[in-house]
Amino acid sequence: MNKSRDGRSSPVQSLSPAGGARQQSLRTHNLALVLRAVVEAPAPLTRARIAAALGLTRSTASDLVDRLVAARLVDELEPELVGRAGRPGMLLAPHRGGVAGLGLEVQVDHLAVRVTALDGSSLGEARLAGDHRASDPAAVARSLGHLAGQVTAQLPTQVELVGACVSVPALLRSGSGVVQLAPNLGWSGVNLVELLCEHPALRTLAIELGNDADLSARAETRARAVAGQSVREAQSFLYIAGEVGIGGAIIIDGEPARGQHGWSGEIGHVVIDRSGPRCACGATGCLEQYAGLDVIRRRSGLSVDTTVDQLLDRERRSIRVRRSLQWASSAIGVAVATTLNLVDVERVVLGGVYARLFDHLAPGIEREVRSRVLAARWAPVDVVPAVAGPDSAATGAGWRVLDGVVADPARWIADHAHP
Ligand SMILES: [Zn+2]
Repeated sequence: MNKSRDGRSSPVQSLSPAGGARQQSLRTHNLALVLRAVVEAPAPLTRARIAAALGLTRSTASDLVDRLVAARLVDELEPELVGRAGRPGMLLAPHRGGVAGLGLEVQVDHLAVRVTALDGSSLGEARLAGDHRASDPAAVARSLGHLAGQVTAQLPTQVELVGACVSVPALLRSGSGVVQLAPNLGWSGVNLVELLCEHPALRTLAIELGNDADLSARAETRARAVAGQSVREAQSFLYIAGEVGIGGAIIIDGEPARGQHGWSGEIGHVVIDRSGPRCACGATGCLEQYAGLDVIRRRSGLSVDTTVDQLLDRERRSIRVRRSLQWASSAIGVAVATTLNLVDVERVVLGGVYARLFDHLAPGIEREVRSRVLAARWAPVDVVPAVAGPDSAATGAGWRVLDGVVADPARWIADHAHP
């Protein structure tokens, strides 16, 4: 693939001396770019705008769009309203209700399922509260399979699930379906894909695993793209997923910096105080022991099943809750400052329950960042709440599945030729 300066693929118009095979591969390449442009556009595009944006001729762009419309990956809406002479172009949008990704989420205190369509809409979803601390993986897999079965049974017949992706707050063994270590679930070396395959609702689907913070960050990049934020403005950030555990992801130009094993971003285990409390990971003084949701609840004098709504409600009346949130926010700020001294990004996105607690956490984080990040006086750091909405890891898991179709629609079309 050709890469432009922002790291994205760029279209190819003409060829050096080469045969039909290369012509075919360029067509495949450009088809993927056209689909990606439609999927990530903040508003419906026309064929002419796609051609201009990608530097393709009108007729090439038009042919590629026709192929995507015929394959039910792109919908033609209505003609564009224009105030000038000439024939208006048809507005185009990602197809809604056909191809979809099944996103599943295992969290310490809940399970979630969401079916995401190519236009980003949710075609079906469910959430189930639970306590998965030191849980039996087989029992959790059974509950998750059952929840997925309830959601998929309600889907209209025209919905075509491409596959499933399961979000886990864990280090994963790349490509193996195995959870290497999930400290807060008490899982180690668990073949979760094998357990899930036993469920009738999932048996026929290809299932992959993803880290919860990585998947939430995937949902976040998509949400920011459709909100019209440019790569420069919004697609490089440190994402922090606050739950019982704390995950992180580093996104540069819209792409995750995953590292050699896919394990980058474990901000929950950055050390705040090496003589601090023992962490579920075995070390001492990790961020999770200062700012994980269970610790915030405990220091607030609340039980582990206290919801975030209840916590926020209490905050208005309780100095203890306020102090607990301040304590958490300065610890997050220290971990964020440590990270930003190593990684050059100027935006921090607070996701998971931290998005809900944003107003209480942001000031403390900003204070630590201002005083600890060496470059902050020249490149002020923005701390913002996530915009991807609740259960964003399940949304991101759906996108992870759909990314396969968007990256290579020609293969999808060949495999799923519609009569
Ligand atoms: Zn730890």
